Amino acid sequence: MVIHAYAAQDPEAAPEPFEIEPGPLPPTHVEIAVEVCGLCHSDVHILRNHWRNTEYPVVCGHEAVGEIVALGDAVEGSSVGDRVGVGWQNGACLRCEACLNGDENLCDESRATARRQEGGFANRMRADHRFVHPIPDALSSAGAAPLLCAGATVFSPLEVYDVRPSMRVGVIGIGGLGHLAIRFAHAWGCEVTAFSTSPDKEDEARRLGADRFVVTRDESALKPLRGTLDFIVSTIHANVDFTPYVMALRPHGTLCFVGAPSEPITLHAGLLLGRSRRLAGSLIAPRARMRRMLEFAARHGIEAEVETMPMEAIGDALARLEANRARYRIVLRP
Ligand code: NAP
Ligand code: ZN
Repeated sequence: MVIHAYAAQDPEAAPEPFEIEPGPLPPTHVEIAVEVCGLCHSDVHILRNHWRNTEYPVVCGHEAVGEIVALGDAVEGSSVGDRVGVGWQNGACLRCEACLNGDENLCDESRATARRQEGGFANRMRADHRFVHPIPDALSSAGAAPLLCAGATVFSPLEVYDVRPSMRVGVIGIGGLGHLAIRFAHAWGCEVTAFSTSPDKEDEARRLGADRFVVTRDESALKPLRGTLDFIVSTIHANVDFTPYVMALRPHGTLCFVGAPSEPITLHAGLLLGRSRRLAGSLIAPRARMRRMLEFAARHGIEAEVETMPMEAIGDALARLEANRARYRIVLRP
């Protein structure tokens, strides 16, 4: 059996067809016939070697949904024919304190789906059955695939940082993560403010559940919001001045980073201590929260807004995402 995948050979090239001879199926793994796989900006960071640790050739793709077609000998609780999803994480030690706490997303030995030649930009992929998630019947495969990374990442802080329905939430950057952050925070019961550099996203953001839309190209746009928000999630990878966002927080408010700018951020500490404000971060979601997120999404009809493209057009998809033209997540079909 040969897996037909798309691999990047260097930081400049678009992924090209690439054949993988996967060998015997590991006992803990399932094999999945990929139906659809989202293109996340983390794939861009890996493909372009932004994090300086990409090993080429690399097969990315960590928002995959498909059908189980084979089971390793030690697999329990999954069956051939199950519709499942695989996200960023595809393994952990399951022994360390973080894992035993149910924080296996924070395990030092966490294994990332998109780092080697195991990703979902392929017709088949293999994943540890303990990191494979059943997709609720109420969700379409294309609309659910981006929930496996983008959805999990923006849902998780709502639970971890105790965001309550009475709170006012801000979302910085209305892309793959940000558009789902609006949907989840709205369904959570919060008042939602969207911060965007793209004025043409306003109607869509309001339709997704934003109560307010602020175009951030004008530096003065955030002034009226000073001291008004309880929780802000930043999904952007760009290096911007976060001072106006911190100033938009109420006392005890939190600015939570899920997108990682490449440069260190600079802030006046007085902005934090004067109002007991907090800076925080969040990384994907552990498995139990992933399941709750999928159940919550099914209950509230939360799916990603997707543009579907054939997998052979992955180069065009990558260019579209890098130019900030994706609305709002591109998903690829093999
Ligand atoms: P995306 O779809 O490209 O969305 C990012 C958004 O950032 C864009 O849509 C745009 O929104 C905004 N933006 C782009 N350039 C900007 C600029 N120069 N200044 C200000 N805003 C800008 O990316 P994504 O897939 O949502 O991923 C976003 C980030 O989250 C990536 O860095 C990714 O690696 C990271 N991530 C983290 C986790 C985690 O576990 N923490 C998980 C997944 C992804 P507007 O047009 O509205 O301004
Ligand atoms: Zn991702």
